[in-house]
Amino acid sequence: MSHNDHVSLFDDALRRLDKAATHATIDAESLARLRSPKAFIEVSIPVRMDDGTLRVFTGYRSRHDDSRGPAKGGIRFHPSVSPGEVKALAFWMTCKCACVGIPFGGGKGGVIVNPQELSRLELERLSRGYIRQVADFIGPDTDVPAPDVYTNATIMGWMMDEYSKIHRRRTPAVITGKPIALGGSLGRGDATGRGAYYCIKELEKKRGWNPTEVSVAIQGFGNAGQHVARLLHADGYKVVAASDSRGGIYSPDGFDIPSLIQMKLDSRRLEAVYCHGTVCETIDAKKITNEELLELDVDLLLPAALENQITKDNVDNIKAPIIVELANGPTTSEADEVLSKRGTMVVPDILANAGGVTVSYFEWVQNRAGYYWTVEEVHQKLRPIMVSAFNAIYAVMEDKKVDMRTAAYVVALERIGEAIAAQGTADFFVKS
Ligand code: NAD
Repeated sequence: MSHNDHVSLFDDALRRLDKAATHATIDAESLARLRSPKAFIEVSIPVRMDDGTLRVFTGYRSRHDDSRGPAKGGIRFHPSVSPGEVKALAFWMTCKCACVGIPFGGGKGGVIVNPQELSRLELERLSRGYIRQVADFIGPDTDVPAPDVYTNATIMGWMMDEYSKIHRRRTPAVITGKPIALGGSLGRGDATGRGAYYCIKELEKKRGWNPTEVSVAIQGFGNAGQHVARLLHADGYKVVAASDSRGGIYSPDGFDIPSLIQMKLDSRRLEAVYCHGTVCETIDAKKITNEELLELDVDLLLPAALENQITKDNVDNIKAPIIVELANGPTTSEADEVLSKRGTMVVPDILANAGGVTVSYFEWVQNRAGYYWTVEEVHQKLRPIMVSAFNAIYAVMEDKKVDMRTAAYVVALERIGEAIAAQGTADFFVKS
């Protein structure tokens, strides 16, 4: 993507803001505050490479809004990271945290780098170097990063350690998504898939579904996709298609998901298999492309891979009546309009994948309390947050006769607006 595309990504985010604002009760001043990040920094990160040379990387961190609590959002290591992309992703985080009602604002960070070109040691130096440059900008009470594309628990561990060294005190709450041994939370691993699963269970109640009659196609069989597949399969849902970056598989009778997961974890390949213990045999299934998966005639379509998958080019061929967005931004705003007009229900990303940031919030709470929960406690606390967010948004959707994405933004904007307005708006000052 060019620099201009990234600028337009932020413009696109603002367009969605404007659309939702026409339905939300939010004053103009609060809205104006949300049109640009509260703070944004660009840093240069010198890294000594293994061959002795020095490379200087560029990194960013955007604190979009912190009216409802410290900014929260991941750090991305990717060659196409840009200021516009980081600002747009931080904006989405503000909306996501408000949408599910957790006490955080939105932030995001990134470094322009292809991490596959770095050795492990170079990656560690870069991760620590990034934290040295942003150490005054982040903190448990100001801005709390987490993993994103091409960053993981190990990297979060290094970053926490570096921050702790700079501040000369152990500070696990500065970053979430850490390894369990360094203060990570149990239940973070499947939190995103589980949050989406709780949303689908609410839909099940509303629509009176019998799970065995509901067919599901899942694009992407990574962290988010595998866990939602496992939970739905355990309840009897028919997962008839799944895919990864190499393509997909389709069987109208549905797959045995634990077997697919076992194969994927053992061989890193997604194959149509049925496993008895450690022995897996190949079963009949059709090989399909990722494009074909999206266009299958299924009841539930779950994009759980990348952004920009449902676009103006393929939206007319999408047959699923319900789409649950586990990925961030899988539907473009142009495709959104078409889906909305056609009556396709889209459970939007800022709701459907918010289980991840919610358990990150639990990790931060546990770090600050120094008291750690069982995995059952994590699940017990996650479910009511997802269920009440889902139902609040569903009610707005029905009440205002808008699509579910607009309803999610309305709920988010009203919560953010309330926090900004609580500090006083023109109404308050002009009258006094
Ligand atoms: P992951 O890297 O674990 O898995 C991604 C999966 O997508 C892999 O199976 C990969 O093979 C597949 N994939 C890559 N390119 C593809 C393509 N062109 N077509 C089909 N599949 C393709 O990542 P993840 O953590 O599962 O994240 C997936 C999505 O969910 C991302 O959009 C991410 O931002 C979003 N998300 C994840 C979390 C989380 O906690 N993991 C939280 C919120 C949102």
